[in-house]
Amino acid sequence: MSYQKLSELVIENDLCMDCGSCVAACPDDDLEMIDEKPQNPKKKCNHVEVTAACPRIFFDDDFNKKSVDAQKFHPFVGKYSDIFVGKTKNKDVLKVASGGGVVSTILINSIEKGLIDGTTVVDYNEEKPWEPVVKIVKTKKEIIKAAQSKYIIVPMNPVFRELVKKKGKFAVVLLPCQVQGLKKILKMDNDFSKKLRKKIGLVIALFCANNNHFDMTQFMFDKLNVKKENVSEINFRVTNIPGASQTGGFFVKLKNGEEKYFDKEYYNFLRHFFMMKGCKYCTDLTGEYADISVGDMWLSKYRDGNELPAMLITRTTRGKKVLDAAKNLIEFKKIPLNDLIECQIDSFLDRKFRTFQRLERKSKKGHFVTKYKMDRVKPGLELYNGWKVKNSDPGWIMSRIESVWEFLHNLKDSSVGRIFLKIIPLKVWHFFIHYFYRITFFVLRRKILTKD
Ligand SMILES: Cc1cc2nc3c(=O)[nH]c(=O)nc-3n(C[C@H](O)[C@H](O)[C@H](O)COP(=O)(O)OP(=O)(O)OC[C@H]3O[C@@H](n4cnc5c(N)ncnc54)[C@H](O)[C@@H]3O)c2cc1C
Ligand code: SF4
Ligand code: SF4
Repeated sequence: MSYQKLSELVIENDLCMDCGSCVAACPDDDLEMIDEKPQNPKKKCNHVEVTAACPRIFFDDDFNKKSVDAQKFHPFVGKYSDIFVGKTKNKDVLKVASGGGVVSTILINSIEKGLIDGTTVVDYNEEKPWEPVVKIVKTKKEIIKAAQSKYIIVPMNPVFRELVKKKGKFAVVLLPCQVQGLKKILKMDNDFSKKLRKKIGLVIALFCANNNHFDMTQFMFDKLNVKKENVSEINFRVTNIPGASQTGGFFVKLKNGEEKYFDKEYYNFLRHFFMMKGCKYCTDLTGEYADISVGDMWLSKYRDGNELPAMLITRTTRGKKVLDAAKNLIEFKKIPLNDLIECQIDSFLDRKFRTFQRLERKSKKGHFVTKYKMDRVKPGLELYNGWKVKNSDPGWIMSRIESVWEFLHNLKDSSVGRIFLKIIPLKVWHFFIHYFYRITFFVLRRKILTKD
């Protein structure tokens, strides 16, 4: 199978989530990410490696689980050793980080202690400060500058081609689907994979419920009456904005010094229109094949006012070692698995049940779907506070609800839909989506869960 097949089965079939693994794996470096899609501009690439690297053609959970040496296992989170909440003690990091600043602190400390020589980060393009870009960096200053979550997809995996040319070992900070792509490349038996295996010193995954193309940011710019050429800074999770309804919000600073703000409550629901189509077919919320996974802890008992601690999962000996090396720099404590599941329950239900229902719906329509070699969650699985799984199939009503979500998701692709999106006030959309979301998860929980 070649690029043409990849294009037909994955890219044009809404399964692609822009990980860039195919671009990294092409032996002749023929593929490029252009307009947020992997493309074959010279029409030269005819290599099987590009399809072999794609986690959306085939993904073998059993095989990849073997690369994680932790002993405990839960079908929602994968293999794990321990789960923590944590917050960095480094004030410079905490000021700018997404949450607890744990990722940046681990990266800085691992470099300072010689465990790695550098790391990938996502920073903003100097000339186009609205455009996130992947960089390989080595200093504390660069890591702190690049802290913070960017809710615009950055195809990370093409950076592996640069990594193999560098001296030393590197950490990579990736979204769960990008870790899946990395694992597929590492499994291959060729020179590139052999070289890459020697370069990767640490894999950190960020939890991820969805990500967006730039069009969501552009939509917010339009709503804020901002021309991107006038932007000097953006930030997706600025806190302490007077009047903000939640922690974090989209902040824009203009070259003339003016500041604008888009409430998190609003941009949270925009994802239902702008989320990448490939995210609907994602099975992994927490980065199940990484050394360490990091996400947000939203449960109020762990929060300190507006501060949002990070939640960490250690999964490998290597992950435990880097966390241990940073133990004096991070305030952290072990928490039970139950709390992790409770905190992210809706996203887990989406990943472990809705994704498979969406795949079945797609397959019934005659489209190719990803072959996931992985066990489906079975009834009887313990979750949290007495809740357990009673049924693996979300059922007919959820399938109908899914078609409404699909309609909403496709709205932005038609000119009429775009007009609706533009003229209907955000407050109205927000009201409708908010309640439809609640109904969706009410129905899903009733179908899937039971309490003793
Ligand atoms: C697209 C996206 C979706 C997320 N969804 C969830 C979720 O549903 N639930 C949840 O609990 N947590 C989610 N997270 C993770 C969360 O936002 C924090 O990144 C995480 O808790 C780490 O916080 P921190 O303060 O320790 O990280 P920081 O110290 O701020 O470090 C974050 C690191 O991530 C890198 N980074 C930023 N954006 C990206 C990106 N787009 N791709 C790759 N690397 C990036 C930065 O360069 C930095 O090195 C998401 C993150 C992203 C980027
Ligand atoms: S999912 Fe990743 S590997 Fe597959 S086509 Fe898209 S960018 Fe390439
Ligand atoms: S939701 Fe899944 S597919 Fe989408 S960006 Fe996140 S990890 Fe990747």
